[in-house]
Amino acid sequence: MADSNDKGCWVGFDLGGTKMLATVFDSAFRAVARKRRRTRGQLGKPPRISRIVQTIRQALDQSEIGSGRLRGIGVGCPGPLDLDKGIVLDAPNLGWKKVKLADAIKKEFACPVVVLNDVDAGVYGENRFGAAQKARCVIGVFPGTGVGGGCVYDGKILRGTTSSCMEIGHVQVLPNGPRCGCGLIGCLEAVASRLAISAAAAQAAYRGQAPHLLELAGTDISKIRSGVLAASVAAGDAAIEQILQRAGAWIGVAVATAVHLLAPDVVVLGGGLVEAMPKLFVTAVTESARAHVLPSFASTFEVKVAELGDDAVVMGAAGWAQTVVESQSNSR
Ligand SMILES: [Zn+2]
Repeated sequence: MADSNDKGCWVGFDLGGTKMLATVFDSAFRAVARKRRRTRGQLGKPPRISRIVQTIRQALDQSEIGSGRLRGIGVGCPGPLDLDKGIVLDAPNLGWKKVKLADAIKKEFACPVVVLNDVDAGVYGENRFGAAQKARCVIGVFPGTGVGGGCVYDGKILRGTTSSCMEIGHVQVLPNGPRCGCGLIGCLEAVASRLAISAAAAQAAYRGQAPHLLELAGTDISKIRSGVLAASVAAGDAAIEQILQRAGAWIGVAVATAVHLLAPDVVVLGGGLVEAMPKLFVTAVTESARAHVLPSFASTFEVKVAELGDDAVVMGAAGWAQTVVESQSNSR
């Protein structure tokens, strides 16, 4: 364990999404400074590592902790990663291929840098600091543009040999369903991502089944976002409510598979859609998951809403960096 007199700090970095976020945490994991910037300096250009370094430096300057007290940096990244080498193998959203991210950041700050999947970071954050504290096994499901998944078991992020695991978005839930963006058929993501939900909602609006949605956003799926869907349901669009409940039920089918394999005590749901309609999703996922598991598993897990919001990834990444760095120094 770390010396209790050591008041060093940890940085968590979230590289997912259109904005990136660097947060400096003190040794008790209280946020002492944060810096948020657009991920891409220039639209259409891949983000440069110098932009990430600069953002971390700005957060550190603002914290007045001094980079000499920095004990480690955790970076949550989208896309397939080489976890041991800290390489981003392929991140289409960033336009990155084989980027040696950990080495590049380490060189600038002279401290350990741990790169991990951003969804894993979020689930770890919820387990250690948020909705799933004290859970022995927590599975996280985050429906967004895709459907992200992660699992923390006995305080450790489950992972594969080199890359992350728990691609719950690509579990097949409909054998004769639509083709997923990944090329497979009937993946969870193909029927329960925000994109799939917005496409179905746009059709309902076009057919005249969702007058409130039509008025709020028209039929352009890029405008049918979580807040608009929630407003349309609140205004009485029953067709939209059914589309969302059906998506929640499919998530429940995939969750049931994960329950059979891992018997989690907590399933955490997060992301914009869930945050906009927490009750609807928790109810739909719980009912469906319970209906699709063996009776002996039906009451072994609880479905909860994530609590940390936009801070989940930075908190989880910084916390995980501490776990990795301290376990390495203990084994020396
Ligand atoms: Zn897929």
